[in-house]
Amino acid sequence: MSALPGAPNLARAGAVLQLDGQPLAALAQAFGTPLFVYSQAAMLAAVGAYQRALQGRRHLVCYAMKANSSLAVLQTFARAGCGFDIVSGGELARVLAAGGDPARVVFSGVGKRPAEMRQAMQAGVRCFNVESTAELDTLNAVALAMDRRAPVSLRVNPDVDAGTHPYISTGLKGNKFGIAHAQAVAAYRHAASLPGLQVVGIDCHIGSQITQVAPYLDALDRLLDLVEQVEAAGIPIHHVDVGGGLGITYSDESPPAADVLVAQLLQRLDARGHGHRELLFEPGRSLVGNAGVLLTEVLVLKPGADDGSGGKNFCIVDAAMNDMVRPAMYEAWMQIEACVLRDAVPATWDVVGPVCESGDWLGRERVLAVQPGDMLAILSAGAYGMTMSSNYNTRPRAAEVMLVDGQARLIRQREAVASLFAGELLLDAPEPGA
Ligand SMILES: *Cc1c(COP(=O)(O)O)cnc(C)c1O
Repeated sequence: MSALPGAPNLARAGAVLQLDGQPLAALAQAFGTPLFVYSQAAMLAAVGAYQRALQGRRHLVCYAMKANSSLAVLQTFARAGCGFDIVSGGELARVLAAGGDPARVVFSGVGKRPAEMRQAMQAGVRCFNVESTAELDTLNAVALAMDRRAPVSLRVNPDVDAGTHPYISTGLKGNKFGIAHAQAVAAYRHAASLPGLQVVGIDCHIGSQITQVAPYLDALDRLLDLVEQVEAAGIPIHHVDVGGGLGITYSDESPPAADVLVAQLLQRLDARGHGHRELLFEPGRSLVGNAGVLLTEVLVLKPGADDGSGGKNFCIVDAAMNDMVRPAMYEAWMQIEACVLRDAVPATWDVVGPVCESGDWLGRERVLAVQPGDMLAILSAGAYGMTMSSNYNTRPRAAEVMLVDGQARLIRQREAVASLFAGELLLDAPEPGA
């Protein structure tokens, strides 16, 4: 395992940890903590690997923006030619605010509201990824009421095991997502019979943090089987969308590089005579995860011998589960590094936040030489960090900085406490609009 897993733009200059050549401790001092810092160059390199491998093919990379939906991140990908995979009307509003092209948006999600469908029709999204026959009927009604036809792809559950954490595995039977493979042809017939719908594609998304190529090839085969059956029934399918889910290196995982994955999928597509089809991808984590770090300051050290806590040493930092929930939610392992290495004997620490939950930990049993006031970096924090953050314990959400061409740009201000309860009403307050 390398000292700095996964983060291509992260390096040490002597004792000093740098992202894109910028010392992280200095950024933490300048912008305060907790602070997310992203390398735009790392994001562009990640999407470039997909795009290069797809060159000469009809394709669209739709960044799954729930991984990190900050406007400057979206702007970065929009300018790189990406579309977006969205899961709510709110995400669509963000795409538009960031200058993204709605004609390159695919709308996923297992429970879309009619109002969100109307909003997406109005904006002119490229495709609705529909997950049930009931949703087909609702979308049909929405489209007819607007005197339009909604472009649809059916999200099929290919029933393949992505070999990942149960909470982020989505392509197996018994999971809420998608239309069962066995029901898919009937669902396509139904879709084709509805005058408000236009069948344009097929999609799947089998899970997240996938570290093997095989599940993707299995899923593609299952999709192509259906494409052949559906087209034999007289319903043309234009594009094949293989979803997202490619993993990143948090510690010692070795997922395939995006270009290797793409090349193998293209080879399978060609081998089965489907090379002419447009191929869509919906990567989230693999475009942003390793491009970001979360910086946090050490507040207090509680060595176990001091207070009878069973010998555990606690390093209490100013970031918490509300800033980065992955360890608490999935027991995810994230590498933690001192921003400046100390020339001292390290000890073993549980790195925890100040939130009043025992689940509020960021890393357990980490060997670190630390003192209060030191800055730590939680690596691979660019995906599912800020977007899953909350205000639990009335903690303002962190600020975000993006490194762009050697410059540190503030892309999100630290939240102000007053804004956290600005929409709340005291019991004796007049009702809004009264
Ligand atoms: C979450 C999600 C993605 C992206 O997953 P990653 O693991 O971040 O690549 C893509 N498509 C759909 C439908 C999703 O729900």
